[in-house]
Amino acid sequence: MISIHNEPQPTDLGDVRVANRAVVLRHVRLHAPCSRADIAARTGLNKATVSSLVTELIDMRLVRETGLTENRVGRPATMLVLDGEPYAALGLQIGPDELVAVAVDLGGNRLLTWRRAFAATTVPPTETLRALAALARRAVGRVTAQGRTVLGLTVGVPGLVDPSGAVPLATALGWRDVPVAAELRAILRDPEFTVGVDSVANLAALAEQRHGAYAGSTDLVHLTGGLTVGAGIIAAGRLLRGGRGFAGGIGHLSLDPAGPTCTCGARGCLTALVGLPAVVRRLLPDVEADGPVIDYLPELTRIVALARQDDPGVCSGLAETGRHLGRGVAVLVDLLNPETVVLGDHFATLAPWLLPAARSELAARAHAPGAGGCRLEASTLDTAAALGGATAALATVEAGRLPAR
Ligand SMILES: [Zn+2]
Repeated sequence: MISIHNEPQPTDLGDVRVANRAVVLRHVRLHAPCSRADIAARTGLNKATVSSLVTELIDMRLVRETGLTENRVGRPATMLVLDGEPYAALGLQIGPDELVAVAVDLGGNRLLTWRRAFAATTVPPTETLRALAALARRAVGRVTAQGRTVLGLTVGVPGLVDPSGAVPLATALGWRDVPVAAELRAILRDPEFTVGVDSVANLAALAEQRHGAYAGSTDLVHLTGGLTVGAGIIAAGRLLRGGRGFAGGIGHLSLDPAGPTCTCGARGCLTALVGLPAVVRRLLPDVEADGPVIDYLPELTRIVALARQDDPGVCSGLAETGRHLGRGVAVLVDLLNPETVVLGDHFATLAPWLLPAARSELAARAHAPGAGGCRLEASTLDTAAALGGATAALATVEAGRLPAR
């Protein structure tokens, strides 16, 4: 499992050097530019250890000297920043009508963002995995041609993902028991880099915690939209996974037993009320006249255009969607008392029209006064799950293991 947010601490047990290397890398990532003396003072590691680790990290081009100096009591110090330019990590995500690939370097800088139209709901899982692998191969080709080594790849799936990287159930895709990680590894012919799988909600929450407007928040929920609704939960600074990795499955919480039928077979689930297919159906009643929708982006663009023109039907449908959303968020707020709930995907696109109703419903429904201090906001991240996947794929290096050269 991904564990980049388990804060590394100096230790006398186990592989001390690996653990200490992780401590130094983390410090540089969070506090750069910083000097060797700063690292020693702030981490509790002794100066000789820091000096030796930094030499090794510079040698591996994971850290570099900036040449900047800072006048301290004593003498000027050489400042350090993360380098990581020779390394890249990839994140992929299965969206409602597209596949997305994102690559970042170790410093978290985006190297590429690719979107490919693909309707995963209309084809067998194997075909989707082949398309993902083809996209991954092209992205790997691009970053290796730039002289970078790929450290890992993590795929976000809208469904339940177990610790082995298999998907026992993803009703929105019609998937059951798909060994995603194993099949991808096989299609990619056992690549040298790691291949991981996680839920889009977990990966989006990781991206939010690292790169979003509320980065560094210790108690945050990212609510993903698209084909299914899911909550990626950061609690006390860590991703909350639960016993088998299925925590955050709020999408199939039934809010209305007489509501519309969900992909899971139940009625009135949050997904069936506010998921992208439900929203398109509610706001554009004519849309399925020519058959099921497989291309959601144009419909979403149409909804935004109509909302901007104050179309009464669309505006009242958006307010209704906002109220359902607020009821769902109230459950999360009562259960987890987060500082912030961030709305991703189509919720973010439609936020100007959803948020007013969602916020007042949240305030009215949550048990704690003032919704327990929770802010409900739209995400500012594009393709958050793929970005989170790329970030997660850096976990091995961030845990202090040196990449092979
Ligand atoms: Zn459901």
